[in-house]
Formats: sequence, C-alpha cells, structure tokens
Amino acid sequence: MTLTQPRAGERLVAGLATSDGAGVKLTRVLTNTLQRRLDPFLMLDAFGSDQADDYIAGFPDHPHRGFETISYMLEGRMRHRDSAGNEGLIEGGGVQWMTAGRGVIHSELPEQQQGRMEGFQLWLNLPAKDKLRDPWYRDIASAEIPEFEQDGVKVRVIAGESHGVKGAVQREHTEPLYLDLHLAPGASFEQLLPETHNAFVYVYRGALRFETGCTVPPQRMAILANTPGSDGVRLVAGDEPTRAILIAGKPLNEPIAQYGPFVMNTQAELMQAVRDFQTGKLA
Ligand code: FE
Repeated sequence: MTLTQPRAGERLVAGLATSDGAGVKLTRVLTNTLQRRLDPFLMLDAFGSDQADDYIAGFPDHPHRGFETISYMLEGRMRHRDSAGNEGLIEGGGVQWMTAGRGVIHSELPEQQQGRMEGFQLWLNLPAKDKLRDPWYRDIASAEIPEFEQDGVKVRVIAGESHGVKGAVQREHTEPLYLDLHLAPGASFEQLLPETHNAFVYVYRGALRFETGCTVPPQRMAILANTPGSDGVRLVAGDEPTRAILIAGKPLNEPIAQYGPFVMNTQAELMQAVRDFQTGKLA
C-alpha cells in the first residue's frame, strides 16, 4: 500500500495530570475541550506507575450513561464488576469494551498490591438513538486481539481494520479504529483513513514523526489534520523502539452534553440521568 496524500500532524497535546476514582493518578490526554475536535471520542486517560499508591484505590462503584468505555491494559491486573452482573479481569495486553447505554454502575479495582500498572481508558460516544440502549460488555484477552507484523511493525488491531485484518470489535455508526503499534527503530507504518474521520496518535515509548516533518515525543498526543484529499497517515519511528496507539473514528456531529460520567445530547437528558441515578433507576 502506498498513500497518495498522507495527513500531516495538526498539533501536539501534553494532557493534564490529574486523579480520578478514589485517587488514581493519571494523565487526561483528551480533555473536554477536545471533544468537538475529536468527535466521536470524549476522553482518553493514560495511566502508568510502579508505585502502588498511585493506583491502589482504584475506581469504586460509579455510574455511566450514554457512551462506551474501552480499557486497554498494557501491564497490571484490574477487576471489573457491574450492576448488570458482569465480572471480569483485564490484564497485560487485554481489553475491556463496555457499552454503558442507558446505564451501568460498576467498579474497576486493581487486583495487585504492587508492581506496574499501565494502560489507557478511552471514551467513545454513542449516537443519540443508541444512548439508552441495553448495556453490553466484553472482556477481550490479549490472545484474542488480532495481530499482524510487517516491515518491523507489529500491529494489534483492537477495533476497525488495518491491512485487511479485522479488529476484535466493530462499530457501525462511529467506525472506530484502535491500533496499538510496536515499531522497530526507523520502521514506518501506513494506515488508510477517510479524510473526514477524526484521528490522533499517542506515543507511549520512543518517538514518531509524520512523513510531513512534525515529531511526536513520548507521552504526547498528536491530532491528525483532516487534510482535504488525504487518504491516510504514514508514521515513522525514531531511533528507538517505539510504541503508540492510533485512534480514529467517524464524527457523529450531534450535540454533546456531559456531566461527569453521563454524556447525553441535552441538559434535560443529563438531569434525567442524575435523577435516574439518585432514584436507583439508572441501572
Ligand atoms: Fe468507569
């Protein structure tokens, strides 16, 4: 495959150091201010620490409504329990995909006392017509995530499709692409992307550059320009082994109203979500 017009990097984002849950330290890479620009994605948190104090408190019972959460664990073990009766363990290289729909109350708690915990949580919006659908969830063990290798690049296809390899999850309305890329020094990787899909790359080891020049250092997100006439992106690793997640999706172009863990289209729907939660009718 050779792209005729690769996208450029539009800008770099460092994210915001914060804590969430019962005091888990993390970096909010995709913050509220980028929700419109990166529609259909609402949030990306990156976490990574060898210090138990940074993660041990976890995320005790909390609600969600109106979107999907995708947790990707690079290292460590996290136990999930929810109000729909689901329970599972995500560990090294595994993914948990949860569609909150009309409502889920769940906990996400570390199942380790020490050692490294590292990974990402991505929030993907649902179209208005699906915001109150039934909840759904799936644990995807590392071995179940489709992978391929070419020219010094290992590609893990969590969602969408890359070079003819279909990912573990497909979604009709938002068409999410979620790739974890492991590149040897100097290796390059091409991915087809419709020009209207919003896309970003987050580098978590090493460094990447766009063929068009801009360099993405570690712990940075680069938003990809929606260059008119473009057909994808070409990424080139620097002098070190490099790892990055590449995420893209089809924008919903619908109003976004958020109040904490509820993401709906209007204020009235948010107030309803809060009332339903307070009266025990959310889940
Ligand atoms: Fe949650």
